Formats: sequence, structure tokens, C-alpha cells
Amino acid sequence: MAAPSAVPGPVPSAVPGPTPSAAPSPAPHTAASAAADTAFRSALDVVRAVEPRVADAIGAEIEDQRASLKLIASENYASPAVLLAMGNWLSDKYAEGTVGRRFYAGCRNVDTVEALAAEHARELFGADHAYVQPHSGIDANLTAFWAVLSQRVESPALARAGVRNVNDLTEQDWAELRRDLGNQRMLGMSLDAGGHLTHGFRPNISGKMFEQRSYGTDPATGLLDYDAIRAAAREFRPLILVAGYSAYPRRVNFRLMREIADEVGATLMVDMAHFAGLVAGKVLTGDFDPVAHAQIVTTTTHKSLRGPRGGMVLCNEELAEHVDRGCPLVLGGPPSHVMAAKAVAFAEARRPEFRQYAQQVVDNAQALAEGLLRRGTRLVTGGTDNHLVLADVSGHGLTGRQAEAALLDSGVVTNRNAVPQDPNGAWYTSGVRIGTPALTTRGLGTAEMDEIADLIDTVLRATAPATTADGRPSKAQYRLDAGVREAVTKRAAELLAGFPLYPGVDLV
Ligand SMILES: *Cc1c(COP(=O)(O)O)cnc(C)c1O
Repeated sequence: MAAPSAVPGPVPSAVPGPTPSAAPSPAPHTAASAAADTAFRSALDVVRAVEPRVADAIGAEIEDQRASLKLIASENYASPAVLLAMGNWLSDKYAEGTVGRRFYAGCRNVDTVEALAAEHARELFGADHAYVQPHSGIDANLTAFWAVLSQRVESPALARAGVRNVNDLTEQDWAELRRDLGNQRMLGMSLDAGGHLTHGFRPNISGKMFEQRSYGTDPATGLLDYDAIRAAAREFRPLILVAGYSAYPRRVNFRLMREIADEVGATLMVDMAHFAGLVAGKVLTGDFDPVAHAQIVTTTTHKSLRGPRGGMVLCNEELAEHVDRGCPLVLGGPPSHVMAAKAVAFAEARRPEFRQYAQQVVDNAQALAEGLLRRGTRLVTGGTDNHLVLADVSGHGLTGRQAEAALLDSGVVTNRNAVPQDPNGAWYTSGVRIGTPALTTRGLGTAEMDEIADLIDTVLRATAPATTADGRPSKAQYRLDAGVREAVTKRAAELLAGFPLYPGVDLV
């Protein structure tokens, strides 16, 4: 291990300035081209002339991102082409409806970008249909849930009543349909096993819509237990079986999940918000490719997929007409400028370099996992085969909250996360989630991941819980050795100096 990165990242340069744009680097945008630097500088000047504090905050953000080891598993760096495709006149256009069927006039340019985004998405993922309007992951999930309800509950009700439109139902039939829509079941992954709030949990609207039950992971191995999921599905008989996660470090066998869904008459929905980039980059294939097995797949576009902040739904032909009614069902006018940026991002993801990127994300996560294990930190499931590692910090005598804060003090940005059956609950937690998509984009490879494992280990060893007034260890307060904090901050900065981020943009 500790082999040099397979991804030729941006050329480390001591002299900030334009980088030759001819370099065939898979991550050229991390060392932005002179044209992009100029564009960002000019854009900020225009903003500064109206509200300088906003321009300053934007400039400070790139400074912060340059200076921190960004290990938040859901974050990335979108390319200048993606970012710039969002800041323009497409934002001003209303375009409710779908391509060629708009409720507004003058939508030909929106039609162009939406059709392109959908076409790239279908090709990239091998999907029958792509709906690129959702503004975010949660909107994509709402669209998908309601598309399934529309297909499986509303359409049969309309057929029974002999009408085509809900407006033509009698008051009694309408009341009955509303009751039926609100009386459906969903089976999803439990939050502490790595599931997501939008998969039927009470604080989210999905939990108020559906009667939900969740499946967890095997307490001994931390892995999904498909026999247990099958047994739960047989007993609960959900309308929708949801697979997908935010904090599970292993692959999911979607072929088996589909088998389970079919057996109980459920629709399989996969939320690949976190790992869409690994699907696009062909790291997750065969049984592990959700699009090949699920009737409907949702995603964000800004996480490992490295596009603009947004969402998307992919589905089969039968669900397409229902998904396309996302607006007006749960969405308003589509963000046309973001659809343009999605088209750009998907075009990037169709390049061969993106496959190298996706493989490097996983190689990096595995190098990080090995580095942590070797130094004595326990990992949930003992390792990873995707883009994230879930470290259990209870062996260091810390809560996830303390570990997250001590790491942040030292320039290492992660986020705390519950581990299965977490004794500290969802707020303090016992885990830290560490992801590699962003730093891989920045050009870091497996050797740097081992160095990062050492930084993390060094901080955790130098951190101890503070003592509360009644003499017990605090779950929130901690003491971090100041010398260690300074040394790690310095090492993190030195590491990042080799991987400049927009070196030609000096905004503050
Ligand atoms: C991030 C995430 C979402 C929500 O995405 P937003 O764009 O923040 O709304 C939904 N599902 C999963 C599994 C996620 O990880």
C-alpha cells in the first residue's frame, strides 16, 4: 500500500498562477484554468459592487475549503464548468412542465438543457427514464414516493371510478383515495445502521406519510442481513422497500433486495444519494448496481457524483409518467440553471477519467481504513468497500461529538455519526464518518490517506473527555493537547499545499 495515487492530480506548484489547460488531468478543475480563475474573479467583483459582505463570504469559503482536509463523505468539489453553468440567465426562466410540454411560453433553451441532462443521465446510468428537475435529494425522494403512490394507489382508484383525473372523482371517492394514500407502508434501513431521515422517519414528512418499519444490520458483523430483511418484509408487507444509506461502509446487493421486494409485492426504491458517483464510475456494477435492479432510483447530484446541488429520479418506463408529474405534485418551477449544470456534470461523468476517479475514491477509502485499523481504531464492519469509513471512537474513550470537534480544531473536517446500537444516541454518537470523494477530486492518493489516518489517530490519542461538575466524563466537553493540535494543523496544511485549489483565485 501507500502506492502513489493513480489519479494524476493537479500539478503541485509553488507559484500560484495559470496552469496549462492542455494537461489531460482527470481533476483539472482543482487547479483551475486561467479562464475559470478570471471568470470567478470577475463574478465576485460584480457581486462586491452590490453587497461586498456576500462577496467576502464567498471568497472566505474558498479560503476555508483550501485550508481544511475535507473528509465529509457527502461533500465534493464541482468543476468550474459545473459552477459557472449555474450562474446565468437560465435562472430567470419559468418552465413548469416537461420538455416540449410546458405551462409557460418561450422555454426552448430550458428544453435544450433539460433534455441534455436527462439524455446524459440515461446513458450514464443505463436508465429507461431520467427526471432531472428535483431541487435536492429530499425532493427527489418525495417525487419518487409520490410517483409510486400515484402508480399503485391513485391510478387504480381512478380506473375503478372510471375517470382519468382526480378532479373528476366524487367527494366520497376522493375522501377514500386520500385515506388510502395515507395508509401505506414503507420498509427502510434504520438510522443508526446508516439509513436516512427521508426513508420514513417521524421527524421527516416521509414518516408522517407512511407507516414505517426499519431493518438494521447484524449486531455481530455490522453487515446487512438479507434473511432478516426478507423476514421483516414478509411480516410487514410494505408498498415500498427502500434501500440506500448515508453511513454504511459496504456494498448493498440490490439483486437480492429486488428479489425480496418482488416476493412481497413491494416496489424497490434505491436512494443512491451518497454513492451515485461509484455507480456512474462503474465501481458498483452487477448485483451492486441499483439502476439494474430497482424500479426507481433517487439521488443527489452534488455528493460523489460531483455535480451541482440538486436531485434526480431514474425509473423504468412504467413509472416514467408518474415521476414526470413531480411538478406540480411536490415541486414548483424547475431550477433551469441547475439542470444546465447537471448536464455538464453528467457529461463529465461519462468521460473515462471519471471511472478512474471513482476507483480512486474507493482505493483511498480503503487506504484510510487500513491506516486507521493498523493504528488501533475500530471500524464499523471492519473496513470499507465504498467511499466512506465509519470509525468507532469509543475505544478512545470519546463520543463522536468530542472526536469531531477535536479533529475540526486540528484542521480535519469530518462529521459525527451514530454507530449501530449506539449507546450515545444520535446527538453525541460514538462514531465519526470519514469520506474520500472530495479529497480524491483534489488529487490526493493512497499515500496521503495513510498520512491522514496518522493525523486522525494522533488527534484522537491526544483528546480526553473533560470532567463534569459531578465528576463524570462529559459527552461534549473535551481536552485536546495544544501542542498536538498545532502540530497536526501544520501537517494538514503542508499536506494540502501540494494540492492547490484554485491557486489563481485570490479573493479575500
Ligand atoms: C444526502 C442525502 C439525502 C438528501 O439530500 P439533500 O440534497 O440534502 O436533500 C437523501 N438521501 C440520502 C441517502 C442522502 O445521503
